[in-house]
This record gives sequence, C-alpha cells and structure tokens, in this order.
Amino acid sequence: MQNETIQKLHTLIQSPKNSVVIGHKNPDGDAVGSCMAWGLFLKQLNHQVEVIMPNAYPEFLNWVPNQEQILIYSDEKQSAQKAIQNADLIFTLDFNHLSRVGEELQKDLETVDQPFVMIDHHQEPDTYAEVTISHPEYGSTAELVFECIDRLKATDLIDRDIASCLYLGIMTDTGSFKFPSTTARTHQIAAELIEKGAVAHQIQQQTFDANSHSRLKLLGQAMQNLEYLEDFGVAYIHLSQKELDDNHFRKGDTEGFVNYGLSIKNVVLAAIFKEDAQQKIIKISFRSKGNFDVNQFARQHFEGGGHKNAAGGKSELSLDATIKKFVSLLPDYKTELNAAL
Ligand code: 5GP
Ligand code: MN
Repeated sequence: MQNETIQKLHTLIQSPKNSVVIGHKNPDGDAVGSCMAWGLFLKQLNHQVEVIMPNAYPEFLNWVPNQEQILIYSDEKQSAQKAIQNADLIFTLDFNHLSRVGEELQKDLETVDQPFVMIDHHQEPDTYAEVTISHPEYGSTAELVFECIDRLKATDLIDRDIASCLYLGIMTDTGSFKFPSTTARTHQIAAELIEKGAVAHQIQQQTFDANSHSRLKLLGQAMQNLEYLEDFGVAYIHLSQKELDDNHFRKGDTEGFVNYGLSIKNVVLAAIFKEDAQQKIIKISFRSKGNFDVNQFARQHFEGGGHKNAAGGKSELSLDATIKKFVSLLPDYKTELNAAL
C-alpha cells in the first residue's frame, strides 16, 4: 500500500463527514464484516455513517454487532437513496466494479458526484474511485481494512465490535485460515483482533454452527447430486429450484457446499450450479486448488469473476444446458487441470 494512497485516504476522512459504506450484492461474511468494521471505525472519527447492503445478508450473520443498523437497499430503497444523496463520501468495500451491487443501486451510484473510495481484494479493479485501495494478494477485504487502519496509525480505535467484524471477514474469506492467501501476517492480525476483544471461538460457533435442519437436508440433496469427473479432477453439484424449494431454501443455505466437491482428493476444480427461477439464471460458484485460475474461467465463460481460487458467475441457459456447457469446456482445460497440483 503506497504512502500516497494512505495520505489521500487520511485527507478524505480526517474531518467528520456524511459517509456511506456499501458492500456487494448477496453479501458474505467479508462484505458484512469489513463494511461494518469500516463504518464503526468512521463513527469513531465522528463521521455520520450509513452502511448499505444491496440485499439481505444470510441469517448466519445476524449476530454481527450493530447489524440492525445496516440499510438493506432492496427493502429500504428510499432511505438508502437518501443516504447516498446526502453523502459526502462513498466507500465501496469487497467489490471493485459497480455492477456488483445490482442494476438499480448501480444506477443510483453512477448518478452521484461525490468521491468514491474503493477498498477491495478482487482482481482487475474498475476506475470509478478517487482513491483505489485494491490488493488482490490479500485474503480478505477485512484484513485490508485492518492494514488501512494500521497505516492510519489508528489501531487504538479498534474496539471489541470492530475487532469482531474484522475477525469475521478474515475468518470467512480465508476458509477459517485455510486458504493459500492466509499468511503469517493474517495470523498476527487475527491475534491482535483477539487481544482487542474478538472472541474467536464464539465467532466461529455463531457463524458456522448455526445450521437449520432444512439446510442439512439440502446439503444431503446436494451430496446426492454430486458428480465426480475423475479424469479431469472436477467435481460439481447442481440444485434445481424444486430441490431448493423442497428443502425450504433460505438465503445463505448453500454457502460452503461447493467446498465439499473440492475436498475430494485430487479434485482441482469444483462447481455448484444453483437454479434461480425468479431471476431466470443459474448462479454458479467455482473453487479451485493450486494453479487453476477460476477467476479467468468464470470471466471467459460465465459472465463472472472473483479470485484465482474462488470465483462466481451466472448463466441464462437452463440448468441442464449450463451443466452441459461446463462439461463440454473441460477437454480444453484438461492439461491445465491435470497440471494444477
Ligand atoms: P461465491 O462463490 O462465494 O459467491 O463467490 C466467490 C468469489 O467470487 C467472491 O469473491 C465473489 O465476490 C466473486 N463472485 C461471485 N459471483 C460473481 C459474479 O457474478 N461476478 C463477479 N465478478 N464476481 C463474482
Ligand atoms: Mn472478500
């Protein structure tokens, strides 16, 4: 992170302002954790802050400190629009392209003149922000937020709530400190957050041991539907709208399912295809091990993106046709897949 960038950030936030902090659509632990933490930090600097999520976050995050203050754009459009219009500064966290907030909110954001600050860890950032803090080498936006606060020499403002939110973001985006993006520094930061009051075991438990019975039934269905293509080192899961409905699907229920495919020995690429009848799309998550780049794969074939080892995308074909397309692409990647580990 360049000194000049931190200086610019410092100049923008040093005097109290009306600030809005926005995460991406279908917010995950890192989006909610990093936005909430940054919002609470700005409050410590006496900013007026609104944290906005484009749509609801999953239920397993409903323990997050101060989450009741989050404005959900899809439910409270007018309040969110008012907050955006009244803002002096707009922070976008955990995404790097305005299309990631959904069409309507994207339009609202494109029509405002206020300066944007991007804090993000995805690849290939867009250029909408006055200050762009884009570091794909970080495992989570939350870790990057900690580094920003550290570089602003303001870690003494990290209280228990901020620490818990940052710990949540780091924990979820590193797969509980498991993914290759986890560094010694990640652990040092986690340790510091624990010292500042984050209760690690509680955050793990509240987030991961919050299953409903129907979610586990849905996982059972997903495991029934798991396909393994041994020659390619590929495993994938599909869930139709009917299967989701039959198991009382709720937002966030399929979070992490794709990792079961990846947990098969020698699987390099795992995917989950989820039918969304309302949006008329198939939502896809990709995960990989080693050198296989799912960000590129999702960008090239499924209108998506993300990180090298975790990405997402979508398809407007039927569920069957989407899976056929996916499987038909694999021979072109066979050499790459077989050499990835
Ligand atoms: P997930 O599979 O957990 O939804 O997302 C994995 C990663 O890919 C996240 O970093 C997420 O931001 C990114 N991602 C998921 N879906 C999309 C998409 O449709 N477009 C882009 N550009 N990134 C996505
Ligand atoms: Mn993230």
